[in-house]
Parts: sequence; C-alpha cells; structure tokens
Amino acid sequence: MATKKSKANRRRKFIFVVGGVMSGVGKGITASSIGVIMQARGFKVTSVKIDPYVNIDAGTMNPTEHGEVFVLKDGFETDQDMGNYERFLNVSLSSDNYMTTGRVYLSVIEKERNLKYKGKCVQVVPHIPLEVISRIEKAAEKEDADVTIIEIGGTVGEYENVLFIEAVRMMELQKPDDVTTVMVSYLPLPSILGEMKTKPTQHAVRALNSNGVQPDVIIARSSKPLDLVRKEKIALFCSVRTKNVISAPDIESIYDVPINFEKDKLSDILLKCLKLAPKKASDLSEWKKFVNKTKTATKEVNVAVVGKYFSSGDFVLSDSYISVIEAIKHASYSQGAKPKLTWLSAEEFEGEAGKKNLKTLLNYDGVLVPGGFGSRGIEGKLAVIRYVREHKIPYFGLCYGMQLAVIEFARNVLGLKDANTAEIDPNSKNLVIDIMPDQKKKMKEENYGGSMRLGSYTALLEKGTLARKAYGDQEHISERHRHRYEVNPLYIEQIKKGGLVFSGASPDGVLMEIAELPEKVHPFFLATQFHPELQSRPLAPHPLFVEFIKKSLLRKNT
Ligand code: GLN
Repeated sequence: MATKKSKANRRRKFIFVVGGVMSGVGKGITASSIGVIMQARGFKVTSVKIDPYVNIDAGTMNPTEHGEVFVLKDGFETDQDMGNYERFLNVSLSSDNYMTTGRVYLSVIEKERNLKYKGKCVQVVPHIPLEVISRIEKAAEKEDADVTIIEIGGTVGEYENVLFIEAVRMMELQKPDDVTTVMVSYLPLPSILGEMKTKPTQHAVRALNSNGVQPDVIIARSSKPLDLVRKEKIALFCSVRTKNVISAPDIESIYDVPINFEKDKLSDILLKCLKLAPKKASDLSEWKKFVNKTKTATKEVNVAVVGKYFSSGDFVLSDSYISVIEAIKHASYSQGAKPKLTWLSAEEFEGEAGKKNLKTLLNYDGVLVPGGFGSRGIEGKLAVIRYVREHKIPYFGLCYGMQLAVIEFARNVLGLKDANTAEIDPNSKNLVIDIMPDQKKKMKEENYGGSMRLGSYTALLEKGTLARKAYGDQEHISERHRHRYEVNPLYIEQIKKGGLVFSGASPDGVLMEIAELPEKVHPFFLATQFHPELQSRPLAPHPLFVEFIKKSLLRKNT
C-alpha cells in the first residue's frame, strides 16, 4: 500500500522538446542527451516520441523515406528516434512511449464509438490534445518516471504538429511548475556573410508563441559555437535568459552531446525551470568512460555493409540502418577499435560485372548483410554471401541476411539450385524459406500493418555453439523480431545434415533463430532471424556483434 501511495503522490516532471527553423538538426539526440544528463542527476527518466504523421506506426513506411523502423520489445514499430532513447538511456521502452497523429485520432474515435465521452460533442480541441496528455501521463506512470522527456516531431509553425503544441500549452496550464519547454533551433552561417544569423530562430519562437507556448531553453544548433553577442540577441528577442541559450555546434560524435550540455550546466537550468531539487551532483562517469573509448581507439576494423536502402536522389543515406551502425560502433569500441564502415550496394555484385567486384570483398575484415524486404539486390547479396563463405571472411547476417545465408547454402552446398524464399518466388520447387502459416491469411486479407512476427521472443541456444559461447553460455535469450518468413521446417534436417548448424531455435523447436557454420569450417559465419542490433547499447554492446568484431579483428591481424 505504502509504495502505491508514494507512487501516486509523486510529483512527475515533463520536458517538451520542440524543433524550430528546420528538421534534421538533432532534436532526437538533444532529447536523448537531456535524458542522460537528468539520469546523471539521479532521476528516473523516460521518453515519449510524438510523430505527426497519420500512419498508425512506422511499420508501413519506406526506410529510404523515413529511416529505420525501430521495433520495441512489445512489437510496436516506431521511428528511429526510439532507438536513440533506448541506447542513450539504456532502457527498453514500450508502445506507450510512442504516438502518432493517426494513433491518437484512432483512439479518440474508438472512445467516441464506445460512448466514453458520455454524449458530448467530441472536438479536435480539446479532445485530441487531452488524449495526447493522458498518453504522456500514462507513459510517465507506467515507467514510474521522475522526469519524462517528450519529443514533438516536425518543426514549429507547420500545420501537422499544432495539436501537439496545443497539448503542451494545456499541460503547462494544468501543471505550471512541472512542465518546461526546450526548443532546438538552427542558426545558419551563410558563407557570403560569414556571420551566424539569429532571425530564423526569432521567427520560430514567435511561431511557438502564437500557439501559446514560450520556450524556457533554446538549444542553438549551428556549424560553429555561438558567441555571447548572439546569445544575448536571442535572449532579448526570444524572452529567455542568456544562460538558457545553449550553444550546440556540430561535433564529431553524438555521444559528446550530453557532456557538452553539462559544460553549460543544462541539467541545473532544467532543474530550476522544473522547480526540482537535485538528487545528486552530476555523475556522468560511466558515459564518459565509453566516450573516452571512442576517442582512444587506435586500430581500425573494416566492415562492409551490403544493403539496398542507401540512396535518395543524389544523396547516400545510412539512416535506414542506424541501429546496425550503432551496434557495430558499440562492439568495436568495446574491443578498442574504431569501425570503418563501407556501404556496398547489393546490385553492384549482380551479373557479369558484379562477379569482378566480388574480389573487393577481400579488402574487408568482416561483411554484414542487414534486414530487408523484396527482390531488389537479392542475387547480389547471395553472391556476396557465397564469396565470404568460401573465402572465410567473417559474415554476420541479420534477418533477411540469415534467410539468404540459408538459401545460398541450399543452392551451393546442398545443390538445390532453385532454392528460394516464398517472398521472391512462391513457385520455386525448393522453398527453403517459406511464409509462416499464420502470415498467409494476413497476406490474403492485405493486412500488412503491424502484422509481422514482431517484438521480443525467447530462443534456446544449443550447447557448444559459437552463439552460445558468445552469449556467455546462456541457454535462454530474448531478442526482437520483424519478419513474415522463416526457415521451412521441411528442410531443416537436410540443411543440418549438409553442415549448417541451427544454434538457436524457438522453445518449441519450430522456428530457427540462429544459423552458423562450425568454427572449424569457418572463423565466423553466423546469422540471426532476429535483430540483435535493436538491443545493443553504448554501455552494453551486443554479444553477437562483439564476437563478429573480435573475429574481424583477428582476420585483420593474420
Ligand atoms: N523479408 C524477410 C521477412 O519478412 C526479412 C525481414 C527482415 O529482414 N526484417 O521475413
């Protein structure tokens, strides 16, 4: 009883993070870093991300358009920012920590149908913002958080997120001492002027003011540090204290951001805004230890990632694989190495010309094939997998990267020339990868959203295998999934006999979770049906990534 009461009486605090001027300037990293510095003051912190699009979740969006889909433990498919929160805060979040316009409207409409508004006229204002507020409060309560950081997607002044800003205004009105707003803004430095301009930020704050919200803190993002003249100007025109204008210049590593914020005493400023007494002096020692490793690493590990979601017009994007990249970094730094990542487009390895390119794979210490969908680039990926298997280059396959490794093995070792996945050729005679039975019906009904095998499932690891060793001889593991297809049970015995080991499987033995080659055959050829990258953290690198990097470093040295 006592704990229940103290939980209910707890005064929870809320920090809203909004963006001004333009998108893509690091609102997510700012919000995550604020989380880190508040944790370092002894508070329990959680995060909420609000995305302004009408999609119910991020699952149906093309990764080249919206970046990676990050899957939470309960299977909810979200924006990549959720990954930043989990990595920075070293926590696991749930669907309560994420909402979109679509999801908020859907639940208001469902409540209306269920007479939950007791005959009232249900209106965009106040009912939508009230639903937003109740979701924020629910997340705070569920995680029993002292401080909840809420990132509002989009930029102030646009139509899409007005109702979320309205929720900020209403929440501030309800709890004036418990809510504060941080604006992440951008200061351009036009080369023809050679001077940093504050006017766009002034306009952004005015736009926010017109929605009834005044920021307490402005994070001034720019290519260079902000000088005192500019700080004072922003303070004067935007009605914030000079010391609440924080200079946030471009830096080499996102991991430096929390440390830089504390140089400007940002946690003290936020505590003051929230009328919150500090629990302890800032202790960022663990975080600093990790950051130090990223700086002192001297050797290099050369990893090639073979994928397809790289290009957007003339630009190369790596956002679609952000968790994979981060997981490689965490593992590399833990081994005292700096990762050098090379993006290889799978299509470069197709056809006659592609064959010649395969030799270039010898230049890498390790090769990774991440998750994916559809048929583009598949033959290229299969050629790469064959080459690294035959040339004993460390190989790590994730999800599609495991299914393709099984197909490659069936084709070239078992001699099943037409081995395939039902995703590409449902008529192939040898579907070594097939659709899961419960997925067939969903596909027939065109039920695509949130309908894959999603979220955390337990797997059992086989004794004496590479995987089991990497996990420190653990028998049970829990990893996150996102797939519709699986190793076809009809082929398991034949594949095993051919020499591929299924070192991890679902507890009922039906679904194959990890495939590997014995260490005496290949130094590291391992692939997972799940996505280990989703659970790698700077302060807790994922064991399979660590093993992959260790073996890649070994190849480098021999
Ligand atoms: N396309 C494959 C499937 O749906 C793999 C998915 C993935 O790599 N996330 O099973």
